Amino acid sequence: MNSPGLPGLPGLPGTPSDSPATPQCSAKGCRADAVWVLAWNNPKLHTPERRKTWLACEEHREHLSKFLGVRGFLKDVVRLADWEDSPAGGGEPAGS
Ligand SMILES: [Zn+2]
Repeated sequence: MNSPGLPGLPGLPGTPSDSPATPQCSAKGCRADAVWVLAWNNPKLHTPERRKTWLACEEHREHLSKFLGVRGFLKDVVRLADWEDSPAGGGEPAGS
């Protein structure tokens, strides 16, 4: 190739290389896309309505939810898509 490229040609928006749009798994060292949201609460640190969230891929969902579960922190496990769907802090308690 001896042509250095065509001047004036608009750059194509081709590679979304560093787009942080996809949330990643919270597990240590894991860079997989998150699929699950684990909602948890540490009653010693947080008020009861407070929710901390961890993100998990399919592989780490069980591991992370177990980690929270044995401590009694785990409140909810929701698919990321559903989590983003539901308005955060909408007021009405979700589910029953
Ligand atoms: Zn993971």
